[in-house]
Amino acid sequence: MPQLIAILPGDGIGPEVTAEARRVLETLGLDLRFEEAPVGGAAYDATGHPLPPATLDLARRADAVLFGAVGDSRYDGLARALRPEQAILGLRKELGLFANLRPAKLFAGLEDASALRPEIAARIDLVIVRELTGDVYFGLKSRGTTAEGLREGRDLMRYDEAEVARIARVGFETARTRGGRLCSVDKANVLETSQLWRDVVIEVSVEYPDVALTHMYVDNAAMQMVRDPGQFDVIVTGNLFGDILSDQASMCAGSIGMLPSAALDGSGKGLYEPIHGSAPDIAGQGLANPAAAILSAAMLLRHSLGMAEPADRIEAAVAAAIVGGARTRDLGGTLSTRAMADAILTQL
Ligand code: ATP
Ligand code: MG
Repeated sequence: MPQLIAILPGDGIGPEVTAEARRVLETLGLDLRFEEAPVGGAAYDATGHPLPPATLDLARRADAVLFGAVGDSRYDGLARALRPEQAILGLRKELGLFANLRPAKLFAGLEDASALRPEIAARIDLVIVRELTGDVYFGLKSRGTTAEGLREGRDLMRYDEAEVARIARVGFETARTRGGRLCSVDKANVLETSQLWRDVVIEVSVEYPDVALTHMYVDNAAMQMVRDPGQFDVIVTGNLFGDILSDQASMCAGSIGMLPSAALDGSGKGLYEPIHGSAPDIAGQGLANPAAAILSAAMLLRHSLGMAEPADRIEAAVAAAIVGGARTRDLGGTLSTRAMADAILTQL
């Protein structure tokens, strides 16, 4: 029985880059089948809802989901529940995708694309493991008025020990597959949630004596990532800190068009997407860099389908195409989306 991959192209450049990622997967001759469904603004236009039941059902049935991007300012006037972004939040929640893996690595040849000095940028090769379904994003939220009559807003930061332990394990497991170093990032000098976080990470570390564990406050981590990103192997952190640090890491590593991500449920199921958004400014013009989507497909093979060898081949082909000079506009070149994918396919 071939494994089922759900393709959810979405909006803007999402369809352009997922089409190329699918082409790469098809070229490898693996035992896979594909089903596509609309999501985001495209789904709203077609059905009146950004995450229609049929799309959610496909995502549930599939062995893995390849996601493009959602969002377009055309939908800004809609009620919050109908906006395209709700589709990805809904998928994460419904599929229980609590672990976000974001590798940030500079491809040889792209040293000048980084926000860091080339010799510092060359050293960046890390993975951020971000908790994705807790923290201030999902804690109690409210608006009110203070005793003095001032408007007030509240977002509750909360974690329980089970939530911390399961993301910590993903961090340790990820470190095991790499350099064996895990840095847990928190704000334990100020926050109760962070003290719990640190206690639980230390407890879980007993199961991983082979992994070298360190702790860092998030403010220091932000500074260290710019000063010397080469010191990090795997970072595990909460939802809010991970959101900020992973965007910072991506700029250190160069173009937003090069970086993939995975959102995992802990049992093998996962949703894979480029870290970039729908890029309405370049949509429909064949200018988007498909590498992030293609590298997301490689992560899909590795993490959800147990196909590490073809995943390695895809990553090597992207690296070789870059070394060979293949560049879309975001990388300072002139190749179209299709031509960039062709350059990668040639290497495959
Ligand atoms: P979102 O809120 O969905 O994350 P965003 O506002 O962060 O979206 P993006 O859609 O990621 O924005 O686009 C940010 C900038 O990066 C835009 O100028 C866009 O054209 C560019 N960009 C994004 N993805 C790519 C890509 N694959 N190739 C080339 N340029 C890209
Ligand atoms: Mg963004």
